[in-house]
Amino acid sequence: MSGLYIHIPFCQDKCTYCDFFSGNQLYMVDNYVDALCREIELRSNYLEDKEVGTIYFGGGTPSILNERQIGKILKQIVKYFVVRSEAEITLECNPEDVNEVFLKGLGEIGINRISLGIQFLEDDILSQFNRKHSKALIYSALRCLEKSTIKNLSVDLIYSVPGVDNASLLATLESLCKFNILHFSAYSLTIARNSKLFWKIQSGEFVENVENEFLKQYSTVYDFLTSKGYIQYELSNYAKDGFISLHNLGYWNQIPYLGIGVSAHSYNGISRQWNHTNIKKYIRELEGGILNIEIEHLTENQIFNEYIILKLRTLQGISQSYIKRVFREEIQSTFAFRISKLIKKGHFISDSDLIVPRQSDLLIADYLAKDLMI
Ligand code: SF4
Repeated sequence: MSGLYIHIPFCQDKCTYCDFFSGNQLYMVDNYVDALCREIELRSNYLEDKEVGTIYFGGGTPSILNERQIGKILKQIVKYFVVRSEAEITLECNPEDVNEVFLKGLGEIGINRISLGIQFLEDDILSQFNRKHSKALIYSALRCLEKSTIKNLSVDLIYSVPGVDNASLLATLESLCKFNILHFSAYSLTIARNSKLFWKIQSGEFVENVENEFLKQYSTVYDFLTSKGYIQYELSNYAKDGFISLHNLGYWNQIPYLGIGVSAHSYNGISRQWNHTNIKKYIRELEGGILNIEIEHLTENQIFNEYIILKLRTLQGISQSYIKRVFREEIQSTFAFRISKLIKKGHFISDSDLIVPRQSDLLIADYLAKDLMI
């Protein structure tokens, strides 16, 4: 089984903390959709297994597209792949784009999961970071979603934001949990190097939260959501039972996926490929039936290192039998030596096969991974 990722690189405007690849040249959207359809056709052989279990429209802002444009892409996918009848098909939406007609249209073309980019509930913070929606629009979107046939709802939140104290964060979580939200992605505010916020910090116009405030708010999110029955299955992701994001899980389980669109990455177990980031060039190339793609063939060491990094971010843990089955003996013995030291130090719990990081150590998972990488 494989996954498909479709990148929609358009936004109304740039949020100040964001450095994702996106632009506001909305006049290009139709031509871009045609180019995506051409790429789907040209690259359908990248995945050995044509059976698709998840499709994810990410961005940018995929909800800038209308139902007709999204439906056109989905039809093209169905033409070149075998989409499972129970496939998870997610569209990232911004609250200002959500209304009853749009949701009805999305349901009719097969979208069955919405990831809603709320981020904050305070109007002054939303406007400070140049988000295009208000608290009123967030509630309006959530009410529309409650009435819609699309029941699988995920919400994105950002915490550890200066000006939003722990009590406000708790109030946000309490308000949102009154709706039937099945999945939360909660990230702390990170300052990307190419974002506007980065330069505001350099000039002293904006001051980041201190480490202690981040830790306090991370615990608030964890304590609150787990008390409401959400399972933390990855450092920043919480789901009700049965609603873990299958697409995310695919990345963490190294399931092959094809990324379509500018800047999209693909992985098929042997190589990684990625598209360039020039929208005009992308459209022009695909009109001519070509696409310049960067390729990196992965070494066994790289595949092992990725396995370790991905597994330590989740509470699924590292499978010893998988390591024995897949990697050469030298890697196996190095891993066995290093992991036994970390288990003795109390960072992991191990059973006959799985070695799982302690929940309290998820925050240092990247450091632990460094000790295990080849
Ligand atoms: S955070 Fe989302 S909506 Fe804002 S600029 Fe980045 S991709 Fe666009």
